[in-house]
Amino acid sequence: MKLSRRSFIASVAAAGLPTKVSAALPRPVAFVNVNVVPMDGPHVLRGQTVLIRDGVVAALGRGIVPPAEAQSIDGHGRLWVSPGLADMHNHCDTRHDMAVMLAKGITTTLNMGEARNSYVGRLRLAIERGDTPGPRAFAALAVDGTSEYGHLILKTAEDVRAALRLASTNRYDFLKVYNNLAPEVFHTLAREAPIAGLPLVGHGVAKVGLARQLAAGQRMVAHAEEFFYTYFPQPPENDPLAAPEPSAIDGAVELIVRHGAFVVADLLTYARIAEQWGQPEAVQRFLESPSAGYVAPSVRAAWPLANYAKRHGSLSRRLEFLHAFVRAMSAAGVPLLSGTDAPDIPGLAPGFALHDHLRYLTRAGLTPFDALATATRNAGGFIAATKPGGVPFGTISTGARADLLLTASNPLEDLRTLETPLGVLAGGRWYDAASLAQLLASVKGIYGQASAPARPLDSARAAGRSHLIGTVNARDVHIDPCLGDPSATRALISMRSPARG
Ligand SMILES: [Zn+2]
Repeated sequence: MKLSRRSFIASVAAAGLPTKVSAALPRPVAFVNVNVVPMDGPHVLRGQTVLIRDGVVAALGRGIVPPAEAQSIDGHGRLWVSPGLADMHNHCDTRHDMAVMLAKGITTTLNMGEARNSYVGRLRLAIERGDTPGPRAFAALAVDGTSEYGHLILKTAEDVRAALRLASTNRYDFLKVYNNLAPEVFHTLAREAPIAGLPLVGHGVAKVGLARQLAAGQRMVAHAEEFFYTYFPQPPENDPLAAPEPSAIDGAVELIVRHGAFVVADLLTYARIAEQWGQPEAVQRFLESPSAGYVAPSVRAAWPLANYAKRHGSLSRRLEFLHAFVRAMSAAGVPLLSGTDAPDIPGLAPGFALHDHLRYLTRAGLTPFDALATATRNAGGFIAATKPGGVPFGTISTGARADLLLTASNPLEDLRTLETPLGVLAGGRWYDAASLAQLLASVKGIYGQASAPARPLDSARAAGRSHLIGTVNARDVHIDPCLGDPSATRALISMRSPARG
């Protein structure tokens, strides 16, 4: 049964998030007389009609006459259509997170570890069927060699095979390697995971190093700053927050280009950590920002427990280095991806963070086209390269997946227009501005009504999820965005189990 737009909004208003949007395939949609930013190059196409049928772009051009049954959206020559956005590194996994992301124009998401089983096995399918609103959702299973970060532990080749079977059965898309894997386990993964249809993505592995990891076939590096920990020369002991020499950048870029690896240029993540490093008032500022209203209360309650604010010194030199590194990768044609690590790190709200991230990329010197490419065409290129055989996305052309944003102005002139889309087409399903606003209002209302956990233990458990168990990061200056601050973890562990302190 199809719900009309009006009844869809009514159902949202009556019952919080809709449980049913449309189980049937949506009817065709036609954007008429719109300007298109196809993202296959830094150019625009004016006065186009884009016809969407069965979830893909069926036709694009001038003078196309939409079929009578199509839902027609007239741009009057003034409105713009660009590809939906992709956040390719986050830890969002609830239906509220998915609703917020969709409302902010995100039509593809990659959860990079520790997602709830209900997200991996159920919520993603519900979104794909159109039963609940959200982006198309991918998931990586995080594996490590010790309990330090709380991930699934693999010690032997048999463990690797068991993990690959489980990951396949549960329809994970990627295997995410983590810091403490033993070299022989990493190499077994590198050989066998791709054969099992599970390409390797993830961190630098301390005892392997990114140079050997990329040579062994790891397809994506989960954070640009991973190169600090397992590629660039380490800082001197008396200056642990020093940045590498800029002259080291060329070698790293050459390595990445040689292996055709994708890199998540998560400048915003590192910048947010730098902002709160030794600055407790920064966390307070994040909590008071409007976007914090779209962060689950349990996660929000845990933000002040992160210990970045109690650190000493400044990350400014490392942040500056990362800007130069990202700029150099972009100039060399490295396919950079956008990722935010939302929502566990204070200051990173689902959906909202991606827009902040795009701005940071332009601040680092990328053109708006190159910045937007990290969240559109490069994400499509990454999935096409690692999970071949699917419907292409990330650019607008005939046959591409119908993940599109309608905006008031040209995003290549001002990326901020993407923050408030006039409508989102996700897998061919159309959400107009009123529906998107209603999604945001519903989540904010639900979060507002929910009382934040009163006991610190509850918020710690909620925020840390399985990250909580383990010992403290031995590498003093390794900031692990996927984990949160190690000293916060220590505090949480001692609260939870003083005996293990
Ligand atoms: Zn992460």
